[in-house]
Amino acid sequence: MPELGTQERPLRVAIVGSGPSGFYAADALLKSDTAAQVDVFECLPSPFGLVRFGVAPDHPKIKNVIRVYEKTAANEAFGYFGNVDVGNDITLDELHQYYDAILFAVGAATDRKLNISGEDLEGSHTATEFVAWYNGHPDYRDRRFDLNTRIAVIIGQGNVAVDVARILCKTTAELAATDIADHALRALAASKIEEIYMIGRRGPAQAAFTEPEIKEMGELLDCGVDLRAEDLKLNDASRAEIEDPANKRNKNNVEILEAYLARDDSARQRRLKINFFQSPTALHGARRVERVTLERNALSGDPGRQKARGTGKTEDLACGIFFRSVGYRGVPLDGVPFDEDAGTFANEQGRIVGSAGTVIPGLYCTGWIKRGPSGVIGTNRPDSAETVAALLADCDHLAAAPRRDSGDLYRSLRERGVRVVNYEDWKRIDAAEIEAGRAAGKPREKFTRVADMLSILGDA
Ligand code: NAP
Repeated sequence: MPELGTQERPLRVAIVGSGPSGFYAADALLKSDTAAQVDVFECLPSPFGLVRFGVAPDHPKIKNVIRVYEKTAANEAFGYFGNVDVGNDITLDELHQYYDAILFAVGAATDRKLNISGEDLEGSHTATEFVAWYNGHPDYRDRRFDLNTRIAVIIGQGNVAVDVARILCKTTAELAATDIADHALRALAASKIEEIYMIGRRGPAQAAFTEPEIKEMGELLDCGVDLRAEDLKLNDASRAEIEDPANKRNKNNVEILEAYLARDDSARQRRLKINFFQSPTALHGARRVERVTLERNALSGDPGRQKARGTGKTEDLACGIFFRSVGYRGVPLDGVPFDEDAGTFANEQGRIVGSAGTVIPGLYCTGWIKRGPSGVIGTNRPDSAETVAALLADCDHLAAAPRRDSGDLYRSLRERGVRVVNYEDWKRIDAAEIEAGRAAGKPREKFTRVADMLSILGDA
């Protein structure tokens, strides 16, 4: 029997998830010296994960990375199994029947909680839901966000919080020519929101947003930025932090914020209010969110390790809609060990490990489900390269799957009623979206229902 990874017996890898980390893993496998067949499984018909459903619609350049993924998909040894939900349409056991290794690139599908009272009141949402809604994710397109209110509060100051704030702050004209979902554009056009609070528990020197993102907030058509002068007074430790050349980004952030404080943009109608040193302690409302209690924080600890601690001083802020944007979190999958603390699959350099730290043969992970929800799209390239290197190093010890024809699996899924969307099918859906967008002056008009995507394909 020829060895695994040779032309006669290519290594068969199933990648679960078609976002950036999945595509970078596929690319690394297909470019390696090991002969491999790589099939990517995706529960939606459309590929690209957070590039399609996470990257903000008004940041189209970031989506150009899709061209790189398309080159990977053009490889003869690449297969796409869209519209196949691993865990429901196909079990892990069955995947093992067809693949020598399974590599999870499933991202972090849920969000961290604040664990405060009132968090589940109507009108209190996660940033992840809102982002998925305005990006036309089929599972979120029917969510309702009541924008018929004057004040919105966002907790957290990462780039996701900035994305949410920017979408709320922009005028319809600024959003209309983007690939924002039509239902969201219409709801945002009718928005009555005038004040958007973006609230951080620590200070300007620790804010998680990056410079281009916070700078962009000062360049919007009709939105001014308000800060509280006392928030920009840094303690000694924070001053030391930003003077460290390794923290240049933080220093630049502080300078951008200082410039906002100094400028007069009072003529602009909508206001982004960036508050620091505050944590929500409770949400209140008879039926839905009406106000949030915020506790004033002080920082303590050495430079680089300062933590926010409540001072006991509180104030209430009226608000009609509330978003928590305090980070994503991975979701466990039956049969795969989960690290509850990290919210990731338990792994060592991408090899999935059991409770005693023993490697589970043939199971790997990459991206946010491996390292947690951090970094930009490009961070996933080296991350996936690391996992693929581990997988290839294990190649000689992998148990070869008994069934070695992806076509058999495709047919078996179709026979049991799963409408597998292959890459050719996806290109037809893609072309139809682009065509629909042309009429509306948008790069594409996304289908926001799976049935609509599949209807393009007929019964072929
Ligand atoms: P993030 O960057 O980790 O930011 C999380 C924010 O939540 C921080 O401000 C954090 O404050 C705060 N937070 C955490 N727990 C909290 C709590 N219990 N109470 C109050 N605040 C709390 O996460 P993210 O914004 O979800 O972004 C995820 C990743 O995607 C990041 O790497 C981000 O850069 C990336 N991303 C990039 C772009 C872009 O490039 N344009 C766009 C979107 C997302 P502390 O600092 O005090 O912990």
